[in-house]
Amino acid sequence: MPTGTAREAECTVCSQWPLALRVTMRCAVGVLPLRQPVCARCLQAFWINITAAKGRAKSAGGLLFGMLIDVLLISALVASLSG
Ligand SMILES: [Zn+2]
Repeated sequence: MPTGTAREAECTVCSQWPLALRVTMRCAVGVLPLRQPVCARCLQAFWINITAAKGRAKSAGGLLFGMLIDVLLISALVASLSG
């Protein structure tokens, strides 16, 4: 997980997106790259999106399943970045 924030021009997530579409595109940010520069807006969007996804879970089982999927996705991301 990134610990600091970068300027948008240096952001790994949004710097390649057209400026006019960035607000809309951030609604789909569900994964952040590890050890890569990420701007404050993408970081904020990530946490908002994750919180909203948890809020949409209809039951404790659904929430647990969603969290399990998140852990699996993060583990796969970490494994792919580790080489
Ligand atoms: Zn960004």
